[in-house]
Amino acid sequence: MTGSEGDEHLIVRKIEAGTVIDHIPAGRALDVLRILGITGKEGYIVAVVMNVPSRKLGKKDMVKIEWVELSQEQVDRIAIVAPSATINLIRNWKVVEKRPVELEDKLINILKCPNPNCITNSAGEHIKTSFTVKRRVPLVVACDYCGYRMGREEAISHLKGALKR
Ligand SMILES: [Zn+2]
Repeated sequence: MTGSEGDEHLIVRKIEAGTVIDHIPAGRALDVLRILGITGKEGYIVAVVMNVPSRKLGKKDMVKIEWVELSQEQVDRIAIVAPSATINLIRNWKVVEKRPVELEDKLINILKCPNPNCITNSAGEHIKTSFTVKRRVPLVVACDYCGYRMGREEAISHLKGALKR
């Protein structure tokens, strides 16, 4: 690594094991932590770096979480908040896997439908929510049950199980 892409190593030390979420759009690192449900009270060692110079993005944020590997569902959530992000899996001080997040065409049980009349919000019904990605940039998703459409910011605030702002 040369140039600005390597600068984060001067700011954050290498980790023995865990996950590095790289290429997060600048200013979104805290949103990424929030949707992962990480508050700091869990005891994980977390490093957040914001506004690091990046060739690809101009500026980027990074999150390093030691001793934690993310589930596919968590990666899918990150795709909504930070579609440019890459997930690096670290084991024994080495990057053993590096992959971009991918926004699936269907988001199953990831978002809550904001429409109170939607069948997925009926008491007693245990229907998994299902949203179709209609457009990626800027993001537009639509509920497969009631057709409710929402953009990225609204989708972020309706992520299931996420901590509220
Ligand atoms: Zn709906």
